[in-house]
Formats: sequence, structure tokens, C-alpha cells
Amino acid sequence: MKIARYLYEGEISFGIIDRSESGDSVELVELHGDPIVAGYDTTGRRVPLGAVKLLAPVIPRSKVVCVGKNYADHVAEMRDVTGGEATPEPLLFLKPNTSVIGPEDEIVRPAVSDRVEHEGELALVIGAVAKDVSEEDALKYVFGFTCANDVTARDIQIADGQWTRGKGFDTFCPLGPVIETDPDLTDARLVTRVNGEVRQEGRTSQLIHSLAKIVSYASQAFTLLPGDVILTGPPAGVGRLEAGDTVEVEIDGIGTLRNTVR
Ligand code: MG
Repeated sequence: MKIARYLYEGEISFGIIDRSESGDSVELVELHGDPIVAGYDTTGRRVPLGAVKLLAPVIPRSKVVCVGKNYADHVAEMRDVTGGEATPEPLLFLKPNTSVIGPEDEIVRPAVSDRVEHEGELALVIGAVAKDVSEEDALKYVFGFTCANDVTARDIQIADGQWTRGKGFDTFCPLGPVIETDPDLTDARLVTRVNGEVRQEGRTSQLIHSLAKIVSYASQAFTLLPGDVILTGPPAGVGRLEAGDTVEVEIDGIGTLRNTVR
């Protein structure tokens, strides 16, 4: 099931993506409130997908947790940039929830950076309070999955020696276009394109630390709240974004997150 958050006639709503009765168009079945807290009660209203503006499908309640160095080919390409090797446990950092934007929104390159880069990643959305959960139980706390771009001011990340500012600028966490509650992620393809050209390509089967491991490990450090988001790391091919670029992160079974760059 695909869940969208959208703006229609001045109101923000959540809805389930569905075929129209005739089968020739796509509609949103409006929900009573946020399904993470309110479930799937529908209002009965249906709106054409083409008539709405899709928004970030979730605004993280408290934080965006990110995993660094989680694909071997990306670890290799970063060896001479930020250094280091794959870590025996997931390497965690945070982005503020003020960095989140939605599909088609603009990524704004800050004036203080000359090197803003894309990192297309799979993101998971937490659905229930999670603290010290086991790997075995971890995925029960996940509401669904979406596409993310861990936009990074690489020059600032390197200069600061830690990652908060370089990863945390406003607009540096595009999410969307929807949350898929039950994708097949055993070997899903993730591809990032800039102006139509493939830059990053990987498969979820190549993740060094599994989704269950990441949720369990993060929950040992932070209480994860419903609506918190976890980015799971990029496959190799991260690279520069310039003004006027269009960047797309596509994941099998979820959709394509598209943003322009200013
Ligand atoms: Mg990243």
C-alpha cells in the first residue's frame, strides 16, 4: 500500500494511492488524519493524483537518523574523501527535521559551500515507539519505506571534521514521493540520476548492515518515535549537484523522488 501526504485546495491530508473505478487514472483515497497514529479510516473522498501537490510523506517527529558507510562500493569511493572503513556496527549521525523537503521541492545549495552532493538512499519510517528492540522484532516498529536524498555539503563535512552542519542544512533531506508499507526489499534496485544520467546504482541486498540491525542498533541509542525516519546509506556514485540540475532517487516498488537544485 502506498501512502501519500498532499496539499489539495489549501488543506494537507494523507491518502492511499488507488486506481480509479474506471481503471484509467490514479486517485488518492483520503484518510482521517495521519495513518501512523490514526490508522486507515477513510473519509470517502477521492481526489485525482494529478490535482494535488505531493508533500514529504512524513515530517519526522523528532529526528532523521542516518547510517554512513553501509555499501562496500561507497566505503571504497570515500576512502580518500572522508576516510575510514566499513564499521563493525552501523555508523550513525543525525539530520535535523528542518532539513526535510518533499517531492519536486528545490534543494538549495548554501552560499558557504562549493561542493553540494547527492546521496540517494532507502529510508524507513518508524511506526511505533522503539527502545532497545531486538533485531528479531525490529521491523515490527517500521511503518513503511520511502526514497531519500542525504544531500551533503562535502567541503563543509570535511572542514568541520564532523557531519552535523554539512549534512543538516535546510532542504538537505528530500523524502518521498510516497511511503510504501510493504515493499519487497530483499533485492530492490536503487538508482540515482542527475539530469537523466545514472550516477548511483545499488541493490538493497548489498547493504552491509541489515534494516533490522539498523533499527535495533539505533534504538539502543535513541528512543525512536512514530514518524522518525532512518536513512540507510548510499551505494557508490555520490557526486556534485549544480544549479538547475534535476536529481531523481528511484527504488523498485516505492517510486521516484525528484527534486531540482538551486
Ligand atoms: Mg548518506
